[in-house]
Amino acid sequence: MARFTGKAVLVTGAGSGIGRASALLFARQGAAVALVDRDPGSVEESAALIAAEGGRALALAADAGREADVAGFLASAEQEFGRLDAIHANAGIGGGTVPFTEQSVELWEEVLRVNLIGAFLAIKHGGPLLLRHGGGAIVCTASVAGLRANAAGAAYSASKAGVISLVQTAADAFAGSGLRINAVCPGLIETGMTAGLFAAARAKGKADRIGQLNPLRRAGLPEEVAAAALFLASDEAAYVNGQALAVDGGLSST
Ligand code: NAD
Repeated sequence: MARFTGKAVLVTGAGSGIGRASALLFARQGAAVALVDRDPGSVEESAALIAAEGGRALALAADAGREADVAGFLASAEQEFGRLDAIHANAGIGGGTVPFTEQSVELWEEVLRVNLIGAFLAIKHGGPLLLRHGGGAIVCTASVAGLRANAAGAAYSASKAGVISLVQTAADAFAGSGLRINAVCPGLIETGMTAGLFAAARAKGKADRIGQLNPLRRAGLPEEVAAAALFLASDEAAYVNGQALAVDGGLSST
């Protein structure tokens, strides 16, 4: 039996990569899915993929790092489906690789706004909404970069370490309420965000090397991260709270 039959789920960053895979997986598990992305064309495309499989999808173009947008898309999802049971706060940006001393405050502000404040807003506004419908789960996409820092991507690493801290503090803030809050920490996954990296490696005939850093010796798939997010959002993870689950082929443990 599908694990999300009769439930409604909202996924941000659902126009591409991990978010699209997550939205599709939740839909295949029976959920009605609200898909949010700042790129209207790509989020419509993701919603159409779900509709083509007979699922129920609502595409919403919005910025997951802006408070008014977050309140707005959560209200739209609640109105459309009459409930909301889980949120996958997944939208994120990379910020590029810039030598540490050349990184601007503007770069830091934008990366923290989308990656960290976006996750905070999903919990701040989504938590009370889920509780109005009997409780539920929020899963934030952090990163292995939040566990193992990378100087050239310092803002990104700091933002994702912040997300890991956020799910711990938020789990405590909502203690006893019926809300669980966790994070997934993907390793290197081929998506829109990492397409340039993979293309450059392939052009040099070194595509194989990308996955060599982790014990599984391969890059991960968006669907493999989505499966972990779905587990954390499901009742099977009923006693998992405030955790950061690495989905990285073992990279963070080496
Ligand atoms: P992606 O670029 O393929 O997808 C990200 C999506 O988020 C895009 O559709 C983009 O338009 C959307 N988005 C960006 N900023 C937004 C905003 N402010 N509001 C709404 N939507 C916004 O990348 P991905 O790899 O699927 O990334 C998904 C998440 O996974 C991100 O949080 C990323 O940091 C994280 N992550 C990715 C990897 C990886 O190797 N790909 C590794 C670790 C963590």
